[in-house]
Amino acid sequence: MTPEEFRRHGKQVIDWIADYHESIASRPVMSRAEPGDVLAALPEHPPEKGEGFDGLLADLERDVMPGVTHWQHPAFFGYFPSNASGPAILGDLLSSGLGVQGMMWATSPAATELETRVADWTAELLDLPAKFRGNGVIQDSASSACLVALLSALHRAGGGAPGRDGIDRRYTLYISSQTHSSLEKAARVAGVGANNVRVVDVDPVTLAMDPAHLDALISEDVAAGATPAMVCATVGTTSTTAVDPVPAIGEVCRRHDVWLHVDAAYAGVAAVCPEFRWVNDGLAEYAASYSTNPHKWLLTNFDCTLLWMADRAPMLGALSILPEYLRNQATTSGEVIDYRDWQIPLGRRFRALKLWSVIRWYGAEGLRDHIRTGARLADELAALIDADPRFEARPDHPFGLVCFRPLWDGLTTEEANAATLGVLQRLNASGDLLLSHTKVHGHVLLRVAIGAPTTDSRHVLAAWERIREEIAAGATG
Ligand SMILES: *Cc1c(COP(=O)(O)O)cnc(C)c1O
Repeated sequence: MTPEEFRRHGKQVIDWIADYHESIASRPVMSRAEPGDVLAALPEHPPEKGEGFDGLLADLERDVMPGVTHWQHPAFFGYFPSNASGPAILGDLLSSGLGVQGMMWATSPAATELETRVADWTAELLDLPAKFRGNGVIQDSASSACLVALLSALHRAGGGAPGRDGIDRRYTLYISSQTHSSLEKAARVAGVGANNVRVVDVDPVTLAMDPAHLDALISEDVAAGATPAMVCATVGTTSTTAVDPVPAIGEVCRRHDVWLHVDAAYAGVAAVCPEFRWVNDGLAEYAASYSTNPHKWLLTNFDCTLLWMADRAPMLGALSILPEYLRNQATTSGEVIDYRDWQIPLGRRFRALKLWSVIRWYGAEGLRDHIRTGARLADELAALIDADPRFEARPDHPFGLVCFRPLWDGLTTEEANAATLGVLQRLNASGDLLLSHTKVHGHVLLRVAIGAPTTDSRHVLAAWERIREEIAAGATG
């Protein structure tokens, strides 16, 4: 593709994306594709001769788009938001355009130094403690961030020897029933062993981790000869946005000298607003590592997770290996950061460009507006739910997620759950909106996660009307 051809098709693609975003609200939110539909529409064999670009957008529209669920739709309320935005898309395009592989400082100094700067900018925007400045890195996902934290913690718990000896020691990891599944996966990847993942009790109402039970479990494990490696506390759990008491958990970690990782994948970015700074409670005093995702609620296209370390030495001890073919003067001088040592893979994208683009476009003010809109709309929805006696909401909705259930007259819990799931399925199949669900104490709850940049009161109100309509139909049908 010559630069001239690139220019022509590039403009077509930008126009296509702009049209897509402009008209997204008129599409059914959830894809109606059945398993195999998209596969069947695609040619079984690749072309022998190059086909040019002209047919691609037409095939995209005809064969691929029916299988796309529209995450940027204003009535997408499933899971958590996965914000995209113009500046993020353009920043990502620039990254693709440069085609830089920033594994080390020496392979493109700007890829490293821009990342260091935007990580610091973000730390400042969120008012994170000073110990994290200069110690931030962009990971592909929170799952990777948690794995890097765990490997660093294991390295430290193992006495800092490179390639920790896991054979003569039993290392333990502490999570709760509400912790994201990526921690259990990280334990598997790291070879911690399922039996050594200890599940701490949660408060029955708030679903927050119980620090006293954590303390008891750690003491028990130490007495049995295990080495506690890491505790993961969550600020804003995936299921219901419960908030673990980080300061009290941190006290327990300090007493037992255990690494505390705080996972605030969804909610951490809310700290751009002063009224949400409480999400940082305990970080300065206790957290060895902290992660949050601009790619959920902060207008930055997937993938972009920020991970900060209070002390980068254990991570470097755990992850840095310098083969001869990567040896270079900048690395050996010790004056530069080589982010390959701050992550699992060697290679890395120039992700800092999109975060840079987002922060510069919106400014702190624009980012705060976005978070406040999501939180305000969640308040509006929660007020509607609370005013309707046919529903029961979770006691709290600190961010943009509201969890609630319809109260079905005369049904057992099991029947009620089936009825609620039936409503969810019909709503999603209608294409009018997309919700997800969770389960708390045996009850299925609907989750409405608000936070798409184009969502406003009208969409929330319309969603609420559709939910009530469908439930009325379910109750009579
Ligand atoms: C979404 C989420 C994760 C996983 O995020 P990815 O970036 O998709 O890996 C981890 N922890 C919490 C609390 C989450 O909400």
